[in-house]
Amino acid sequence: SKKVEVLGVEFDHTTKTETIQMLTKRLKARKKTFVVTANPEIVMYAQRDPEYKKIVQSADYIIPDGIGIIMGAKMLNNPLPERIPGFELMKDLLDVADREQLKVFFLGAKEQVLHKAINNIQQDYPGIHIAGYHHGFFKGNDPDIAKMVQAANPDMVFVALGFPRQEQWISQNSHLFSKGLFMGVGGSFDVLSG
Ligand code: UDP
Repeated sequence: SKKVEVLGVEFDHTTKTETIQMLTKRLKARKKTFVVTANPEIVMYAQRDPEYKKIVQSADYIIPDGIGIIMGAKMLNNPLPERIPGFELMKDLLDVADREQLKVFFLGAKEQVLHKAINNIQQDYPGIHIAGYHHGFFKGNDPDIAKMVQAANPDMVFVALGFPRQEQWISQNSHLFSKGLFMGVGGSFDVLSG
């Protein structure tokens, strides 16, 4: 699809509705998918960390999260259709998982926050199969945690470790999976726990 470059990060020229349609298709086809919702902080950080920039660029979809990205693209005379907040994209994906009865794994946030979020998700999206969950306060790239996610055979994995760690986790462990939609979601579990 058409790309729009902002400071070396190639965003997808897409709307939220189109994105959800594409991602739903890929989920049904069991295609492994890495989504980065990149806000200005992520784009700026990628300038300083080339390894992280490579990880972001390796994503299947880079989504403009934040008005700063939309404004940047406009100033570069290569406008993007709309801002797509990561939290909204996550909620739309939870709707898809609810409808399609998909298996979802939740990785990250503080243990209590995560438990509250899981309870709320189970109530609001009763069709979702909670494949598993684990808090985000572990050291490094703990192989036992990666194996736990792998063993759950999830259709979707939401990783709430904050950037850059969440995208690093996805990139480092992607090879363990043959399917699944992987997306870093920042502080989303904290919002969902409320
Ligand atoms: N977090 C985590 N492990 C860590 C650091 C942070 O699980 O080692 C969680 C934190 O509890 C929060 C989420 O990561 O739920 C995102 O944090 P933040 O809002 O700082 O995200 P950012 O906007 O930096 O992506």
